[in-house]
Amino acid sequence: MSGRIDWNSIESKWIDRWEKQRIFESDPDSSREKYFVTVAYPYPNSPQHIGHGRTYTLADVHARYMRMKGYNVLFPMGFHYTGTPILGMSRRVAANDAELIETFHRIYKLSDDVIATFVEPVKIASYFHHEIKRGMKEMGYSIDWRREFTTIDRVYSKFISWQFRTLRKKGLIVQGSHPVGWCPRDQNPVSQHDTIGDVEPDFNEYTIIKFKSGGGDDDDDDLIILPVATLRPETLFGVTNLWVNPQLDYVQAQVDGQTWIISKEAARKLEFLNHKVEIIKTLKGSEMIGWKATNPLNKASVPVYPASFVEAESGTGIVMSVPAHAPYDYHALEALKSDKKLQQMFHISFDDDKVSPIKIIESEAYSSGIPAAEEIEQVGALAQNNNNSDDDEGKRLEKATSNLYSHEFYKGRMMQNTGRFAGLAVAVAKNEIKQDLLKSGSAETMYELVNKPVKCRCGAECVVKLLSDQWFLNYGDREWKQRAHECLSNMDILPQDIRQEFDYVIDWLRERACARKSGLGTKLPWDKEWIVESLSDSVIYMAYYVIAKYVNSKAISDDNDNISDAFFDYVLLGSGSADQVAKECKLATYAVEQIRNEFSYFYPVDSRHSGRDLVPNHLTFFIFNHVAIFDKKNWPRQIVVNGSVLMEGKKMSKSLGNIIPLRAAISEYGADTIRLAILVSAEILQDADFSFDTVRGIRLKLLGIFEMAENWRNMSQQATEEEEHLLHHHQQQRLLMLEDRWLVSRLQRTIAETTASLDRLRIREAIYHTLYSLDRDLQWYLKRATARKHQNITGMLAEFLNIQIRMLAPFAPFTAEEVWELMNNRQSITKAGWPVVEEEKIDIVAEESEFLISGLLADIQNIVKVTKITPTKVVIYTTAAWKTQVYKAILANILEGRVNFGQIMKLLIANPETAKVKSDPKMVQKMIEDILSTPLEARNRRLSLTEFNEIITIQDAQSLLSDEINKTQIAVYSEEDPAKYDPKMRAHAARPFKPAIYIQ
Ligand SMILES: [Zn+2]
Repeated sequence: MSGRIDWNSIESKWIDRWEKQRIFESDPDSSREKYFVTVAYPYPNSPQHIGHGRTYTLADVHARYMRMKGYNVLFPMGFHYTGTPILGMSRRVAANDAELIETFHRIYKLSDDVIATFVEPVKIASYFHHEIKRGMKEMGYSIDWRREFTTIDRVYSKFISWQFRTLRKKGLIVQGSHPVGWCPRDQNPVSQHDTIGDVEPDFNEYTIIKFKSGGGDDDDDDLIILPVATLRPETLFGVTNLWVNPQLDYVQAQVDGQTWIISKEAARKLEFLNHKVEIIKTLKGSEMIGWKATNPLNKASVPVYPASFVEAESGTGIVMSVPAHAPYDYHALEALKSDKKLQQMFHISFDDDKVSPIKIIESEAYSSGIPAAEEIEQVGALAQNNNNSDDDEGKRLEKATSNLYSHEFYKGRMMQNTGRFAGLAVAVAKNEIKQDLLKSGSAETMYELVNKPVKCRCGAECVVKLLSDQWFLNYGDREWKQRAHECLSNMDILPQDIRQEFDYVIDWLRERACARKSGLGTKLPWDKEWIVESLSDSVIYMAYYVIAKYVNSKAISDDNDNISDAFFDYVLLGSGSADQVAKECKLATYAVEQIRNEFSYFYPVDSRHSGRDLVPNHLTFFIFNHVAIFDKKNWPRQIVVNGSVLMEGKKMSKSLGNIIPLRAAISEYGADTIRLAILVSAEILQDADFSFDTVRGIRLKLLGIFEMAENWRNMSQQATEEEEHLLHHHQQQRLLMLEDRWLVSRLQRTIAETTASLDRLRIREAIYHTLYSLDRDLQWYLKRATARKHQNITGMLAEFLNIQIRMLAPFAPFTAEEVWELMNNRQSITKAGWPVVEEEKIDIVAEESEFLISGLLADIQNIVKVTKITPTKVVIYTTAAWKTQVYKAILANILEGRVNFGQIMKLLIANPETAKVKSDPKMVQKMIEDILSTPLEARNRRLSLTEFNEIITIQDAQSLLSDEINKTQIAVYSEEDPAKYDPKMRAHAARPFKPAIYIQ
């Protein structure tokens, strides 16, 4: 079986065996500590591709690692049917959507017969459910499949009803009008799961301020409202003019009975925000130039000017101009003032209109001049300093705007010219002015998407809708937020960098629509018109894995209509009594007790894995809902977040045609190769880059391990029984060679390093230690052993393989099992335990020896290369004993932070043992340099070395040195040896750990 390996048949053999031996089924076991790993369950509306593989593989590596460390690991899986995307997909199939059907054919290779069944939404879900499940088995995920469920199972629906009734009882579900992301075509709220590209609609609250205008005629009593949308109502005192875009189409409309002029787009947005809008006529922006409008706050009359930066899609299409505090306005006003042609075209005269910036906010940073002007200058100067000359104006203005906005918001105060608001902090004035204007009817609130365009999966562009009578989870509740923060602060977040993102999201979340009118899922228990949406019925389901086992085993019948809230209260919260619950729900008492015990054993969740895109929603909701429902002791303990996967450096997308279904990749390259290739390219938060070069490299590595195991097996089989006995005896008391001791020591170090990496899920690092660093060590070992014809290395190879393969098992489980079996082990490697460091096997003399030899070899090879001589003899001189004293003294000083030459020299001379250096300060200088270029690990080791004989070490490696240097004769002498061969007087240059070399 050398060369080509049939990976797929190895995989099916082990999948089969794991299943038969129930290796991954875990039940409560009081003798072992539990570890509960979960990963966000998949949404079955397509097969999984390489990109999906990352999160699940990471969770599986984690589960396998903890299992080998002796924990009773529970790693279950469910399937999330809830929501509208599957519904949307079945509609597209029914409508014969060419693009979707092409995707089914080309990427997922589905037959027409299968596609035809997809007009029924549940058929889509169940088809891909089974497809994904097969893929997960083929990837080797160590899942306890007895706990599988879907979110439309009847008992699951009862569980969700319980969750919602519980939240409502606690006052956390409210009904009311709140803005939501909305698909106008589906007439449904949208969140991340419903949009193309999985973007969460994010919106801002603007204040619409109503400027009144007589239109072209100043005497007209019939006033028209020119509304402007702003995030900074406090700057209303500084308005000098309004901006409209002369090129745009505007409409005159009756809005809630008043006459407004706004962009067409704004009219549509206002309708979704429940304003009654009736369009009367359209007009061009240019028609409004020159009009006057009255500022509702200070009654100032301001002109309407043209500006091309005004966009129809943003706000109302009319902008108030505050040149002192808004860089865009300052810039546009300056431009208009210097553009005589434009002034002429619109009959604007700056002789009549004394339009200059009005400063109304003061702050430290902008004390003297006009803040907007200063900030533009500063950002402009920065851009020039950074040589960003091509950085366009728009970007600079945007930067200036955000700098100024945040500075004034936190540090600014209202000036004397702002009436009764004078002296107030901006943050306070902003709110007071807004409330005043709202109360007097001079303002309205408007919501607008920040990250538009956001597209629904159906293709329609999403809007913000003010939804009335909708049910909301009140994530804005202060006390709830505080508990969520408390939970987070006690959690382990991996990687750490992501923690503050969670804190931010907890603060920022507000009411969130939790029900939809269509889609699969559970009906809202008290209002059956509504269905609980997919980011609300997926937040505490980890608890349901315990119950699912009993539903699947029929201990709880799927159609048991007697299961009531009392059941969940008892099993999940511990309230009530088992007897009573059993009676009420028509279940056996012992079964109810057993379920409760199992929940108490496995909960809380020890580690929750998910992609980074779920931080702002799912993962934070997971925290919120746990703290609302469960006791503190059952709050989650850890969240692990990973980045996404790129394909050969590019984002995966249908249009690029670079989506590779996971199962196709497994059948072509093998599961272990795919697992490692997904994991090895990045640490967890970074985007991983999947490349076929990596795939080929990994495959070769795995093949190398197989071959080594086969070689070992052949070697050990050649031994007769008696020899085997001898071998065994020999292993017990063998006289270890230097390289044996070194390899064993290196193994201990690698165990320690890999364990430390995996404990923090630094996966890339762990793979590097196990696969690459150990392999380098082995190559060195084999070189050394071969050079001295060290015959009996079977024992060493067995020890090496035994450790390497156990550390590889979480990453490459199939290879690990197969090699483990080749090595005559009968039990699954998952039961073999994680290797533990044996301190007594750490051998610093052996480590230093090999370090010295490999360094010496590199030095000699370097000299040969540089001098281009063909050596006939290499002479090596080791240091005189007194220099070692000096070296140690210098080393101790450096490790204590003293690296100054003069200072070190003084100390050496003061000590009679090292005073001899007085005659050779250059030697001291060189030793300092030697030490500073030595890795820290080796410096520490050298300090603790008490007896280290360089001559014996080098003599031991003479065969290797000779082999590597042209079979040249090697001679070793001490510098102090009176009989040494030293024709060129090189010996005196020898330093500790840095022998002198003479080549002839
Ligand atoms: Zn839609």
